[in-house]
Amino acid sequence: MEHRWAMVIDLRRCVGCRACTVACKSENNVPTGVFRTWLRFEEIGEYPNTRPRFLPLFCNHCDNPPCVPVCPVLATYKRDDGLVLIDYEKCIGCGYCIQACPYGARYMNPVQRTADKCTLCVHRLESGQAPACVETCIGRALTVGDLNNPESDVSGLLANYPAQTLKPEQGTDPMFFYIGLDGRLVHEGEP
Ligand code: SF4
Repeated sequence: MEHRWAMVIDLRRCVGCRACTVACKSENNVPTGVFRTWLRFEEIGEYPNTRPRFLPLFCNHCDNPPCVPVCPVLATYKRDDGLVLIDYEKCIGCGYCIQACPYGARYMNPVQRTADKCTLCVHRLESGQAPACVETCIGRALTVGDLNNPESDVSGLLANYPAQTLKPEQGTDPMFFYIGLDGRLVHEGEP
């Protein structure tokens, strides 16, 4: 059966080190000033009971991606395995997809003058390796795997912990799932 790639981000484990951001830039030769993955620092809770939270952000490889239908030259497409990718040969750099993404996940690559974003390190996935961000995460907060395989780590995490997606009201149906996004940090072992 075809893979169905997904990411689970366990916010209980993110320590805010930004190693994912650096590893991604290095692996994918991401130019200065733009990012494929980045971290948002937030303070959650109500004063005086607040605590810091770090939110790793990426392209969500949406199942209903608004970036795809706006492309006038069909350069952006969604594969059957769930990845939303860009054909850089076709892209004319119009930027419609950058405007359409509700997550700010896309940028204009100033070197190749095309739209660009996270590919979930498709080149690594296809050779059996984890994406660079996953590989480098010291807290093991990031897990990538196959949702079609009930034995995969992502399937196990989603079966055992409540998870949410970003901006569900947008109807994008992200394939990136966050444990602890609602601010109620779920403790280890809690259903
Ligand atoms: Fe497209 Fe943005 Fe969804 Fe990624 S997060 S698939 S760029 S709409």
